[in-house]
Amino acid sequence: MPAIKLARVAGFCFGVQRAVDLTTQARREIDGRMTTLGMLVHNPQVIARLQESGIESAPALESIPEGTVVLSAHGVAPGTLAEARARGLNVVDVTCPFVTRAHRCAQQLVEQGFQLIVLGDPGHTEVKGILGAVNGQAVLVQSAEQVRGLKLSRRVGIVSQTTQRAETFAAVVAEVSRTAFEVRAFNTICNATDELQEAAVELAQQADVVIVVGGRKSANTRRLRDLCAAQGVPAYHVETAEEIEDSWWKDVKTVGVTAGASTPDWLIEEVVRRLNGGSLPEGMQIRHPDERTRAKFFG
Ligand code: SF4
Repeated sequence: MPAIKLARVAGFCFGVQRAVDLTTQARREIDGRMTTLGMLVHNPQVIARLQESGIESAPALESIPEGTVVLSAHGVAPGTLAEARARGLNVVDVTCPFVTRAHRCAQQLVEQGFQLIVLGDPGHTEVKGILGAVNGQAVLVQSAEQVRGLKLSRRVGIVSQTTQRAETFAAVVAEVSRTAFEVRAFNTICNATDELQEAAVELAQQADVVIVVGGRKSANTRRLRDLCAAQGVPAYHVETAEEIEDSWWKDVKTVGVTAGASTPDWLIEEVVRRLNGGSLPEGMQIRHPDERTRAKFFG
């Protein structure tokens, strides 16, 4: 039996864990139809469990005629919230507090008279929410190069979509600083992705083979597998324990296990049990990637 090593942090980020917990709690407490606006989590096994407990998902408010709507962890614009209420829907808002923090920072900058620049991907749910929180009074950019073409005010404020790269944010701030007299930047980037990736690379350096657990379509899970493979070890992406083949891990000393930000603990545990003869190693604990962001946002 090989030794099993879990990544230092793995699986659900804080916001997704909270969204799933609040939604399942709401299901226990609220009768009637319950629908999430968009996919609550990019993981088919979690979605299947939610469906089993009577929670559907719909792409838009127009497809939700009645009952309770659960708003996404990525947040929504205030207009969407108002529309849900105007349609007579009961609203459960599971917006990640880190995303809410980005909304507040953006609003504060606009209220204080700064021209607002938002670093983010056009069309992303979270970005729509941030822009909506300031009634569209912001310029959306994806890179420092795009800042160069803008006519900037003397006072410029900057916030970021939570999943942007720190390097891109720093480059945008530097570019704005070349022109503006007063620059106020809120670093609203969530560190969960970076923490998962750093831990996966460390794991791959200590293991003979790595198994990465997560939804087939989950981009952050696929990225973890690629990073592990880049360390020169065989790295396999699986959704469930049943997909693991014996030939991957027989005759190796250490199997590393990590998981994407939308993978729940129970799927990780099933994989570990499969590798460990049916039980969990004593004292095994899955730690999630949120401490650094919590400390940054809330002290
Ligand atoms: S990635 Fe970060 S901001 Fe997004 S839901 Fe997870 S904890 Fe919240």
